[in-house]
Amino acid sequence: MRLEPTNIQQIGNEFAIQWNDGTESYFDLQFLRRACPCAACGGEPDVLGNIMRPNVSYSENSFELASFEIVGGYAVQPRWRDGHGTGIYSFQYLRRLAEAHISNPSA
Ligand SMILES: [Zn+2]
Repeated sequence: MRLEPTNIQQIGNEFAIQWNDGTESYFDLQFLRRACPCAACGGEPDVLGNIMRPNVSYSENSFELASFEIVGGYAVQPRWRDGHGTGIYSFQYLRRLAEAHISNPSA
């Protein structure tokens, strides 16, 4: 079965995804932004779920979601209120993030 979201929505300051295997993932928006996989932010969580960032500066509205869209049927592209919107989060990446998030809730 191809893993796909059946429903995606923002709930408060969380990004909630329902998957077609019946599971749900919730991402704190700040966590999601810090995990931005685009070239400028450049980084993915390591095996321990720690995200090593280059020098990325965030402003207050960096962690507010303006909108998001599904791209190419395989990924979600959030647009943040500080204007950043080049991060493409593949569904598989989101699933890995969700697992990292659960095993390391302080991340
Ligand atoms: Zn980015």
